[in-house]
Amino acid sequence: MDLLNTLVDKGLRRELPTREEALAVLATSDDELLDVVAAAGKVRRQWFGRRVKLNYLVNLKSGLCPEDCSYCSQRLGSKAEILKYTWLKPDDASKAAAAGVAGGAKRVCLVASGRGPTDKDVDRVSETISTIKEQNEGVEVCACLGLLSDGQAERLRTAGADAYNHNLNTSEATYGDICTTHDFSDRVSTVQQAQAAGMSACSGLIAGMGESDADLVDVVFALRDLDPDSVPVNFLIPFEGTPLAEEWNLTPQRALRILAMVRFVCPDVEVRLAGGREVHLRSLQPLALHLVNSIFLGDYLTSEGQAGKDDLAMIADAGFEVEGTDTTTLPEHRTGSEAATPAEEAPAAAVPAPPSDDTRRDLVSVRRRGAGTDLPPNA
Ligand code: SF4
Repeated sequence: MDLLNTLVDKGLRRELPTREEALAVLATSDDELLDVVAAAGKVRRQWFGRRVKLNYLVNLKSGLCPEDCSYCSQRLGSKAEILKYTWLKPDDASKAAAAGVAGGAKRVCLVASGRGPTDKDVDRVSETISTIKEQNEGVEVCACLGLLSDGQAERLRTAGADAYNHNLNTSEATYGDICTTHDFSDRVSTVQQAQAAGMSACSGLIAGMGESDADLVDVVFALRDLDPDSVPVNFLIPFEGTPLAEEWNLTPQRALRILAMVRFVCPDVEVRLAGGREVHLRSLQPLALHLVNSIFLGDYLTSEGQAGKDDLAMIADAGFEVEGTDTTTLPEHRTGSEAATPAEEAPAAAVPAPPSDDTRRDLVSVRRRGAGTDLPPNA
């Protein structure tokens, strides 16, 4: 297929596809799906080999957010029966982080609900970052605290935060449909503040909120313009009690096409498979490892993922390896560090069973363990 040959050539040269090419990936048929995965897989292996970076979420503060992001179970007015708690103490957060590190996580993502942190919150998180770094040697810490005010990015960097996450989520044109309490430009500005302070930027999207193909391509091109080091791709988890509870419009095949499109547009960037993979990719999750080079281990902020040991088994069974702390995630040209593992040819992927059209509401399960509870996490 000419399209795929062109996209592989561009991906290996780190050249931006055209919008039409990105749209054409989303428009491929199910018959072409394995060819699309194989093509994007070549680009993935060129820049990241067969390594999979594991990341672990710690929800420092859960629920009761004054913002109204319609996809979010923690939003203003959410009826989702999630855990609600205020700031975890540094030792408790570090204990939660240690479970992820023990499971192989290289990065811990510290997340707090809310529009953005107060200066006192930044002090609190700074202490948590120090505690985690003291108690978990070599771990990368990413903070995700919402919109940043002047000077806060610098303070987090000084406290030891390696990265800052703030997702663009959807296209600028549709941002007002999913949130009215802040806008797209607020989000762009926070990512830029994090970059200016010397933190590695992590910014991604949520697919499955009723957006068009053009919206998906728009947000991925906007991300490419911002040039984050990592791009998490979430698939909407339609929580009961949120406005998007009925948005079940992804199939495993569409989820794979979206991931392939992101890989072609952001070839040498850490593409991270994030929330919703169990719910929407279901038994096709292992194919996604040919497209992404990073996943979350275990549970998400307010919902349960598959058990950490199942994640590790899936990675090994699919012929991939967990990335160690002695390896630099990003290729040399992005970091100035050692070159990434050279490309290897993978055997052709096996043909999966035909997907089911049924939605799997039963897979949406509110998190009842790990951070903020007395129960151990599933990492
Ligand atoms: S600001 Fe964050 S926590 Fe609050 S509703 Fe939006 S996504 Fe959820």
